[in-house]
Amino acid sequence: MARIHVVGAGPAGSIAAMNALRFGHDVVVSEDHPAAGVPENCSGLFSIDGLQTLSDFIDYRKFIIQPIHGADIHLVDQNLSVRRRKPVGYVCDRKAMDHHLASRAECEGAKINYGERVSNRFHADNIIGADGPLSTVARHFRFRPIQRHVSTLQAVLPYRAKDPGVVEVFLSNSRFPGFFAWIIPHDEYAAEFGVGVELPDKPLESWKRLLRLKSIHNAPPPKGAVIPIETRSQTAMRIGKRNILLAGDAAGQVKSTTGGGVIFGGNCGALAGRHALAPKRYEMEWRLRYGTDLAMHLIIHDYLASMSDKEMSAFGRRLKKLNCDSYLSRHGHMDRPTRMIGPAILLHLMKNMTGVA
Ligand SMILES: Cc1cc2nc3c(=O)[nH]c(=O)nc-3n(C[C@H](O)[C@H](O)[C@H](O)COP(=O)(O)OP(=O)(O)OC[C@H]3O[C@@H](n4cnc5c(N)ncnc54)[C@H](O)[C@@H]3O)c2cc1C
Repeated sequence: MARIHVVGAGPAGSIAAMNALRFGHDVVVSEDHPAAGVPENCSGLFSIDGLQTLSDFIDYRKFIIQPIHGADIHLVDQNLSVRRRKPVGYVCDRKAMDHHLASRAECEGAKINYGERVSNRFHADNIIGADGPLSTVARHFRFRPIQRHVSTLQAVLPYRAKDPGVVEVFLSNSRFPGFFAWIIPHDEYAAEFGVGVELPDKPLESWKRLLRLKSIHNAPPPKGAVIPIETRSQTAMRIGKRNILLAGDAAGQVKSTTGGGVIFGGNCGALAGRHALAPKRYEMEWRLRYGTDLAMHLIIHDYLASMSDKEMSAFGRRLKKLNCDSYLSRHGHMDRPTRMIGPAILLHLMKNMTGVA
């Protein structure tokens, strides 16, 4: 049995702690805040498939706020309408989820020190830095920094969605440079409004644009946060007798297209807990399992971010002519683009090529 120090009791940290315990280790967790899940900086939208991959750690059904079965993706003035008959995702109560994960880690035997901010003193030689996008652990051990981040603003506002099971996404690099705006319904009467722009752009103008788009006046001040949108080039190292692993946002295990990091970060957290004494094994295994999908998210992000509004509108028209909305409705996957690519896409394109300008 070895002693593991997990820094951060977000989803990646709590899951890492649980799995380290299950692999026979002794675990202490430091959490800066007085409780897990605060402050809340997350839309709480997860794919059902993704949540199921974490079912050894969380019974997500307790935290569902709103099932999601579709998306209206506005590419400037073109709308791709993606619909499923059954829900593909859930909006969940993220604060309650984090709280539950941390409590479960405690019940399984982790000691969590709330209100303990780690800077340069560690409780063990085996360290898992799950301390979010501005990771102190990564900085302290001089991991190469993540260069690319999105800056976000978001608030829950009164809103009557036409269909509360459908999220709205707005892409336009003149209005939301390098990322997008979103409206995620919580029920028939409220929705989370959010905008993200890639740094060094600032999100306040984009926030005002989103409110104007929906004729919303007198909104409360939004909350701000950052999301890493590239994976760190190295996420684990051994220095002398110390093993240092990074997981979750600290490692940049986030979908660059949407900023979603709980599913990949949680799964990588589980691997970090399992391989806490084997940095090379951890690095190899998470990249093997999730690296291609995360790289594809970045490629798609960069492709979309490179377009002028005119190009994006033309791209949207082209996708509609190719009936890509119906392809996404049948084969779309919120987390793993690699699962959307296969014989089905070739068949679809072949069927729809005729008559496309
Ligand atoms: C606006 C917004 C919307 C989002 N929406 C979604 C979404 O819908 N779906 C999704 O999957 N993801 C979403 N994300 C991303 C998601 O929130 C993150 O990917 C996720 O929280 C990462 O989990 P984590 O455990 O790695 O880090 P965090 O959740 O950031 O947890 C890190 C923890 O470490 C603690 N900590 C930090 N530094 C120290 C220190 N020095 N000492 C001790 N403790 C420390 C922090 O207090 C925190 O509790 C969103 C992000 C934002 C900003």
